[in-house]
Amino acid sequence: MPGYLRPETAQGQFLNFAKLLEFNQQSMPFASASIGKSFRNEISPRAGLLRVREFLMAEIEHYVDPEGGKKHPRFVEVKDLEMSLLDRNVQLSGSTKTTKMTIGQAVETGLVDNETLGYFLGRIQLFLLKLGIDLNKLRFRQHMANEMAHYAADCWDAELQTSYGWIECVGCADRSAYDLTVHKNKTGAPLVVRATRAEPLRIEEYQIDLEKKKFGPRFKKDAKAVESAIDALSQELREKLSLDLEKDGKIEIEVAGVGSGKVELEKDLITIEKRTRVDNVREYTPNVIEPSFGIGRIMYSMIEHVYWSREGDEARGVLSFPPSIAPTKVLLVPLSTNPAFKPLTQRLTSKLRRLGVSNRVDDSSASIGKRYARNDELGTPFGITVDFQSVKDNTFTLRDRDSTKQVRASEDEILAALKSLTDGDETWADVAKRLPEFTGQEVE
Ligand code: AMP
Repeated sequence: MPGYLRPETAQGQFLNFAKLLEFNQQSMPFASASIGKSFRNEISPRAGLLRVREFLMAEIEHYVDPEGGKKHPRFVEVKDLEMSLLDRNVQLSGSTKTTKMTIGQAVETGLVDNETLGYFLGRIQLFLLKLGIDLNKLRFRQHMANEMAHYAADCWDAELQTSYGWIECVGCADRSAYDLTVHKNKTGAPLVVRATRAEPLRIEEYQIDLEKKKFGPRFKKDAKAVESAIDALSQELREKLSLDLEKDGKIEIEVAGVGSGKVELEKDLITIEKRTRVDNVREYTPNVIEPSFGIGRIMYSMIEHVYWSREGDEARGVLSFPPSIAPTKVLLVPLSTNPAFKPLTQRLTSKLRRLGVSNRVDDSSASIGKRYARNDELGTPFGITVDFQSVKDNTFTLRDRDSTKQVRASEDEILAALKSLTDGDETWADVAKRLPEFTGQEVE
């Protein structure tokens, strides 16, 4: 049996569409998301994590009603966000000059096809900034018409500038109704939404009634085939046949494989009438907006963007991971190996753990400056120094990795500040404003 590796996680989600819609109480719009390995037969894998044959991918499939301009109820939340856009006309002219505009303007002028696509472009930018991506090294590039999949309505890539140049890290496409339609056609399973109409639709149409008591005995084993052929008659043909029936008292229809391929039906077997049908339900195939994140590429670019070295000392690197993604949030540094510090570091570490703030103790004999320097390089955003004053009055200094500034306060205040810093409720500037600065000894 041949095995196949998926090139994206998307199709697994589309195949589950009917179930997902049911989980969502049949209500639209909604989205599904999936993260996992994807595989591509790259001809020349290169550039480390950037072009590989097996990579981690995270995809959102947002299902939207194609009627009404694909609006998004939360578009207002992102519409004033300024973004660097490189549209296809600029690229066609041979330039890579980006235009800065709000995503609201981009949708209003039709540059970005619709609100839902615009909403996700905005959210992609916010997500990348939250990870520490440098806004000046982010641009959104529109796909050229010949680059875009034939079914896509519009497609933009979030590209990040790295030492390898501009790299596509997140794709965001409006895939129209393509995937769900293809799966529906191949499997016969209805991947559609049935929505109650606000205004019932009145449809005038030709309907056919058969005199079943006579129809069965007349056609016997062929009855089913004849009935199917009648059901499949178009409205146009039905109109013509109703006139023939009126005029001649009988009609002739084509039924493949029965008799000569033509079957005659008399007036006592069939009636064709124009009637009004009230349709309360609208059936449609949703369109899909798909943000698709290449995790390896994002991680690589982010690490390049947050890496810098202290002024005048290239050997002293710093990884400015934002607190939300730093693996270790706090480093606990006793001033020396003096046993008096041990109970304090133990208490702090267990309290921080209970608060859900990951932390490490560095009680090696290296100088305090060295210990901080190597943890700056590992991306740990905050440090607590335990010194002789701490033993006396239970106050501690809290150090900020990026500025190397420190504040000093009671244990409770320091722990509360760390909790709000790592939860993203406060920034270092907020904390530095409300807690007294410690200038005793700056630990660079
Ligand atoms: P695509 O479906 O081609 O738009 O790819 C979606 C995302 O997957 C891209 O934006 C990249 O971040 C990532 N990606 C695609 N191909 C590779 C690859 N060969 N190696 C690593 N990441 C990739």
